[in-house]
Amino acid sequence: MRVLVLGAGVIGTTAAWYLAKAGHEVTVVDRQPGAGLETSFANGGQISVSQSEPWAAPGTPFKVLRWLAREDAPLLFRPKLSWHQFAWGLRFLFECLPSRFRFNIREMVNLGRYSRESLQELRREPGIEYDQLTKGILQFYTDARDFESAQIASEVLREYGIERVMKTVDEAIAIEPALESARDKLVGATYAQSDESGDATKFTQNLAALCEKAGVRFLYQTRIEAIEAGGSRVNGVRVQCEARKPETLTADAYVVALGSYSPLLLRPIGISIPVYPAKGYSVTLATGGFTGAPHVSLTDEGHKLVFSRLGERLRVAGTAELAGYDTELNMVRCAALVRRTKELFPSAADYAHPIYWTGLRPATPSNCPLIGRTSRYPNLFLNTGHGTLGWTESCGSGRALADIVSGKTPEVDFQFLGVAGHRPAAVLGAAPRFASRR
Ligand SMILES: Cc1cc2nc3c(=O)[nH]c(=O)nc-3n(C[C@H](O)[C@H](O)[C@H](O)COP(=O)(O)OP(=O)(O)OC[C@H]3O[C@@H](n4cnc5c(N)ncnc54)[C@H](O)[C@@H]3O)c2cc1C
Repeated sequence: MRVLVLGAGVIGTTAAWYLAKAGHEVTVVDRQPGAGLETSFANGGQISVSQSEPWAAPGTPFKVLRWLAREDAPLLFRPKLSWHQFAWGLRFLFECLPSRFRFNIREMVNLGRYSRESLQELRREPGIEYDQLTKGILQFYTDARDFESAQIASEVLREYGIERVMKTVDEAIAIEPALESARDKLVGATYAQSDESGDATKFTQNLAALCEKAGVRFLYQTRIEAIEAGGSRVNGVRVQCEARKPETLTADAYVVALGSYSPLLLRPIGISIPVYPAKGYSVTLATGGFTGAPHVSLTDEGHKLVFSRLGERLRVAGTAELAGYDTELNMVRCAALVRRTKELFPSAADYAHPIYWTGLRPATPSNCPLIGRTSRYPNLFLNTGHGTLGWTESCGSGRALADIVSGKTPEVDFQFLGVAGHRPAAVLGAAPRFASRR
């Protein structure tokens, strides 16, 4: 089958890889000059199955209200006159119900674990390098109440087969000695040994190179203007490449992997998906010549920040702002990242030359991505809405999507769109118009 993948982020590129492996003739289209240059560019680097708790949790609405007036809040909601934002917010509240919270954790653990195994297979065959570390993820706490809640979350995760073990301050420092400089702030930690970290951009670009060797065609610097649909089929995709006249690309099947921009191209053909951009920040610091940077990937629960060592760099990422498609750097939020890193690890890196970045996470209210076939157009597939865990879930999502396009049932238990044998959607989990979710 000829398959056109829209978007060359980590999600579109992994999908292209598995589609090509399944024997399809694959073309990938992206407006950037290479793969992985938007949200997949400078993320937190964590492959964090153990952190599958969604933002939408029973206590979150109160925290968000408390943070409303704080410019450096970890999760900042900037209300706008936007129906899309309002509807997303309502669904988010629904997903905070305890039953939905548990259900969403289960979904993400299943997909995350399958994805991590798929990534490990890719490392073995064909072999891929991306500054990966397999030292686990240590999540540390500076607030006693948060640490107590971590026990409950760890128990829920254990029910789903994820070992996130409670650690004392001494035990945490034994796992990551760089935390010694933050000893007086810590109250405890949890450790998930099977988690990993690595550079998502390097991975995406190296995988794109492997895809090309396997026959995948990448059309870069090509803007997708519209998806053209008629009756019950997608007939083509109108694109504009800088050097050429506008043209329509055609295929037998189309995969939308446009991250936060997916809803903008789907809405004109009558498909409404609950994906909203959640802006995040990162700072990358050079560690060459410095000794105090962590090697184990860390999560600072109180500040919702993650730290990953990527070769001779330390990547610090986090914060979320629900404020539409704004990609300007807010220097208050940038400075907060560096301030916190310096507080914890004073001699970790070259703080005088920070490299700041911001990206838009394609967030669904439940944190669960939308993967599968749309019911309105059977030749149109989605692989989008991966929010905070797109790097973690990329290989599993691409592999499952390739199975669905090929008419096979994916090997992982997850609520895919339009797949027979999988459980139906919960009431508000998906826009009713676009998929039967079976
Ligand atoms: C601060 C931050 C930290 C994060 N940390 C982690 C982490 O530690 N672990 C983790 O698992 N996840 C993390 N994430 C989430 C992860 O980065 C995302 O979920 C993932 O990158 C989404 O990938 P994507 O391919 O869907 O989107 P993208 O990477 O944005 O890819 C979409 C592609 O579509 C293209 N595109 C869009 N519109 C058009 C158009 N009209 N025409 C042509 N091309 C178009 C874009 O150029 C882009 O290349 C983090 C995100 C942020 C922002």
